[in-house]
Amino acid sequence: MYKSFDYVLVGAGFFCSVIAERIANDMNKKVLIIEKRNHIGGNCYSEIDNKTRIEYHKYGTHIFHTSDKEVWGYLLKFTSFNSYYHQVLTVYNGQVYQMPINLETINSFYKINLKPYEVDAFLKKEIETESYDEPKNFEEQAINIIGRPLYDAFIKGYTKKQWGRDPKELPAHIIKRLPFRKNYSESYFFDTYQGIPTDGYTEIFNKLLASKNIMLKLDTDFHQIRDQFSSGTKIIYSGSIDSLLDYKYGALDYRTLSFEKEVVEYEDYQGTSVMNYANQDIPYTRIHEPKHLHPERDYPSDKTLIIKEFSAEANREDPYYPIGGEKNRLLYNKYLKEIKKTCPNFIVGGRLGDYKYYDMHHVIREALNVYSKDIRG
Ligand code: UDP
Repeated sequence: MYKSFDYVLVGAGFFCSVIAERIANDMNKKVLIIEKRNHIGGNCYSEIDNKTRIEYHKYGTHIFHTSDKEVWGYLLKFTSFNSYYHQVLTVYNGQVYQMPINLETINSFYKINLKPYEVDAFLKKEIETESYDEPKNFEEQAINIIGRPLYDAFIKGYTKKQWGRDPKELPAHIIKRLPFRKNYSESYFFDTYQGIPTDGYTEIFNKLLASKNIMLKLDTDFHQIRDQFSSGTKIIYSGSIDSLLDYKYGALDYRTLSFEKEVVEYEDYQGTSVMNYANQDIPYTRIHEPKHLHPERDYPSDKTLIIKEFSAEANREDPYYPIGGEKNRLLYNKYLKEIKKTCPNFIVGGRLGDYKYYDMHHVIREALNVYSKDIRG
């Protein structure tokens, strides 16, 4: 049934969609994409809310940002970007602060008025009371950077909610995703390019997958139809690697997200696209207000859409965030080794396939590399 395809790609997120586009348009070969969900775009999928006509990102706000000129240039073939510039705020004990932690956060939190050149000396004193020579986990790493009081206020509760674990059990590298600023810069990212696709994320995927050489099968679980492909079929796989071998060595740990959507009758509910909630007793981690992602659009002035985000353990369903750490890394390597040995026709990649906390631009970079080195090359 599937014999006429040169390549089969599993998952319609950025990893497989970029590779499919390249194979179809650059090599003029036929590809089949199999997607479990009823839509393309993976977790980047965006759609229009019926009641408000506001476009929202179904799996949480996605801001495209990169300093990779080639990745940016590649995407510009499929979309333009608006001038949105990402800024996040966080609520701690009912008070709004800037996030990532910057000079404004420090000054408001301590009720002081430091200058940028005074921050290091101030934090040094804070850190002197508690610091770690060789930080072994997320908590120790964070305390080494910002000191215990800022950590307890803005990081500890949020991280426990997001990861469902004590930060002492989490790998240190996660905190390095979050910048720390000694000036008043409010930008969440320091990348050269950023923005929201002018016509939404889903439209990028429609364009990536527009070739006649690409056939898309939605609502289809690859694992259910796997035996219909001959053993030599080239398969590019972006699902979770443990599911590929039917969890035979156990499941990798992932977090998943759920969302509560609500229309409220205000022109503007929170004044920004993402508001984090740092206190642990507030059950959600953040509230998204997608109206702010497209200031250039003519959205209704009498209502807005708000979306609360909740984090939970994935239990094999809808994995979003690889949790990482030593135990998971060893398990991942065991799966990968076996896949390389027993399924040489598979290329595995993307956030789930690599079990790495990638951003969108990392995934596109990886897809372009895989295409040029392992597929066309
Ligand atoms: N984080 C935090 N407080 C915040 C925002 C982030 O403690 O207000 C921590 C949290 O552990 C999170 C990590 O920093 O997992 C990385 O944050 P990022 O915004 O990159 O997470 P993402 O947008 O990928 O969910």
